[in-house]
Amino acid sequence: MTADGLDAGLDAEVAVVGVGTMGSMALWALAEAGVPAIGFERFGLGHDRSAVGGETRLFRMAYHESPEYVPLLRQARRLWGELERRSGIQLFTRTGCLSIGDPDSEPMRNVRESIEANDLPHEYLDAPTLRRRYPQHRLRPDEVGLLDLEGGAVRPEFAVLAAAERAVELGARLHTDTVVDEVLPTGDDRVLVRAGGREYRVRHAVLATGPWLGRWLPGLDTAVTARRLVLSWFAPHRPEEFAVGAFPSFIRDTDGTHLFGMPIMDGVSVKAGFGDQFGDVDDPDRFVRDVRPEELGVLRDAVAELLPGVRPDPIRVSVHMDGYTSDRHALVGPLPGQPGVWLLGGFSGHGFKLSPAFGKIMAELIIEGRPSLPIDRFDPKRLLVSG
Ligand SMILES: Cc1cc2nc3c(=O)[nH]c(=O)nc-3n(C[C@H](O)[C@H](O)[C@H](O)COP(=O)(O)OP(=O)(O)OC[C@H]3O[C@@H](n4cnc5c(N)ncnc54)[C@H](O)[C@@H]3O)c2cc1C
Repeated sequence: MTADGLDAGLDAEVAVVGVGTMGSMALWALAEAGVPAIGFERFGLGHDRSAVGGETRLFRMAYHESPEYVPLLRQARRLWGELERRSGIQLFTRTGCLSIGDPDSEPMRNVRESIEANDLPHEYLDAPTLRRRYPQHRLRPDEVGLLDLEGGAVRPEFAVLAAAERAVELGARLHTDTVVDEVLPTGDDRVLVRAGGREYRVRHAVLATGPWLGRWLPGLDTAVTARRLVLSWFAPHRPEEFAVGAFPSFIRDTDGTHLFGMPIMDGVSVKAGFGDQFGDVDDPDRFVRDVRPEELGVLRDAVAELLPGVRPDPIRVSVHMDGYTSDRHALVGPLPGQPGVWLLGGFSGHGFKLSPAFGKIMAELIIEGRPSLPIDRFDPKRLLVSG
């Protein structure tokens, strides 16, 4: 055994492949638990060429996707606070999050069930009240609002930096600008990682490669696809109407339009983004980050209709990608047929807010063999043909 507690011949207990959102949080959780870990990131920390970037991510406690997420969201909220304290950087801003939609739609039913089952602080806004309170939104027929008082915004770039830097402070090693080319169980309770022209031997490897996850194994390529997401920022006519406190973060799912947005958080503009309706990215290595004219047209039309208080030509845009699964729930757990290799990906456009909770869960799976919160829904076996 070496001075740092490692068995001879091992470079670390755990290799984290991809130090973006989930990888940085897993590295942090492992380092807090005293596990020797090493992270590999193909770009720089907090870069905007994948699923990080764009200044803010929604945090919602009343969850469109399923009420099952609430315990994870509570854990994540607690850990955001802990990371803020450790780093001295404000990562979370409470803005409230307003869900707008048809009350009988699945997302709105899930929001209601999340609130009822967990006694979440909220306000129900019927259509006349919603129009009066938040005239910044133009409503379609049958739309109502549910204001999640615990909702807010997380700052993605600072979050990744804070988690990775804290991990390094606690002893984790980090290689940026280093591509991992291969991860191979060697049959002796070890995994070989080839990165940057070198070989590393570890006991566990966590694949947290986001939109690149699909390329790691036949079977994964159909389980996780990379999709394109466009963010845009709009100049309001009256900035005071869109300030934090006057205008909550929002998410609306109506007649095929999935629009979400933020109050002014950069001092200038209101952010709005769409769901994953701009298609797949065939090869994440050749991702084109220019916004296309037809994408601009869709954004302009939606914003002109739904947010009449902003000028509909965006003053800024940015294009990103995320890894999506077919059921839009992540893959978290062992990779079947590959002992020592773990999956932490496929967060399908809604993973950021949850990332510290999933980083901790990955550390628990590796260290204790079981997570402290139920994660059956995320079992990779449900989507992977067994290897
Ligand atoms: C535009 C946009 C808006 C979003 N809005 C929200 C929101 O409001 N709220 C919310 O909760 N979620 C939101 N999401 C989703 C959330 O951001 C993602 O689900 C989450 O960030 C995914 O994290 P990840 O770690 O899987 O991927 P990433 O953060 O992309 O990390 C993957 C990392 O792996 C690295 N990598 C890949 N291959 C290799 C390799 N071979 N070697 C070394 N490194 C490698 C990449 O460079 C990258 O840094 C949004 C996503 C996007 C794109």
